[in-house]
Amino acid sequence: ERAKLKLLKTARATTLDKTKIDLLANIEEPSEVALALESGAEGIGLFRTEFIFLGRGDMPGEEEQFDAYRKVVKGMEGRPVTIRTFDLGNDKNLHTELSSSDRKRDNPALGLRSIRLSLAEPKPFLAQLRAILRASKYGKIRILIPMLSHAHQIDQTLAMLEQAKSSLRGERVPFDEAIEIGGMIEVPAAALAVGLFLRRLDFLSIGTNDLIQYTLAIDRSDEQVASLYDPLHPAVLMLLSHVITSGEKAGIPVSMCGELAGDPHMTRLLLGLGLRQFSMFPAQIPEVKQKIKQSDISEITPIVRRILKLEESAKIQEQIERLNAWQL
Ligand code: PEP
Ligand code: MG
Repeated sequence: ERAKLKLLKTARATTLDKTKIDLLANIEEPSEVALALESGAEGIGLFRTEFIFLGRGDMPGEEEQFDAYRKVVKGMEGRPVTIRTFDLGNDKNLHTELSSSDRKRDNPALGLRSIRLSLAEPKPFLAQLRAILRASKYGKIRILIPMLSHAHQIDQTLAMLEQAKSSLRGERVPFDEAIEIGGMIEVPAAALAVGLFLRRLDFLSIGTNDLIQYTLAIDRSDEQVASLYDPLHPAVLMLLSHVITSGEKAGIPVSMCGELAGDPHMTRLLLGLGLRQFSMFPAQIPEVKQKIKQSDISEITPIVRRILKLEESAKIQEQIERLNAWQL
């Protein structure tokens, strides 16, 4: 069994009809790089930077962040590392000025969180962008912006990135001039009006955890409504399909880093929707890879097309079972 797993680690994630799928890892701190590599990750698809600093009393400065980001990118030895800017203010709180108690609201998921908070506090945001840029000298880094909903937030973020770049140039500090910047699709408005994003960004990543929460109006951390949190709701599938096919048409890569991407029961559905880049907890990679290697996209696609026309959850569920029972 161990030997089999070892083989699986180095095997490429290729479908039976020879489509190469990228399998990336989600990490929350630099020490997880070893686990990501052990699991066969081809890169980091989501580095949740806020986690390094959660539970501390203070805000990490540029130097400390630079050290953390450099550690990850060096550890990945040339593989791409997607660094997400702070996603603070909802369930993830840092006890600093950035999330002080006077900002507490009844509805934090709809409040000043994530990129909204970063743009409201330009000084720490600039420090983070500078730290990421400086680390980009040591490997391949991509910047990922969470919780975008409005076009002007992208424009503002790009302007701040430009500001961070020009300050570094002025100091003659090297960084990757061609660094790519992408956005998370986690808000239904962003999924529906995805053209705004495709025109302005280099890549997209679908955050299904939040996208499902906001689409179904279900608090993802509230146990009382957990049974209504349904990734297979037809509205969710329509949004996923729209984002993935729009990205394909525009020639902009779309990955998925929400929990759906790491669930092997969803792998064939996602392949059938056109997804080719998956990011997940390192431990989930081997099983998802196994599933990909046993899947034939040309067989799956017509079934998934039929699933997209269904409106009854039970029928969708039934078709997913069929999809998963497929043995070749
Ligand atoms: C998501 O929302 O799907 C996501 C990947 O981000 P997080 O879980 O950190 O909110
Ligand atoms: Mg999210």
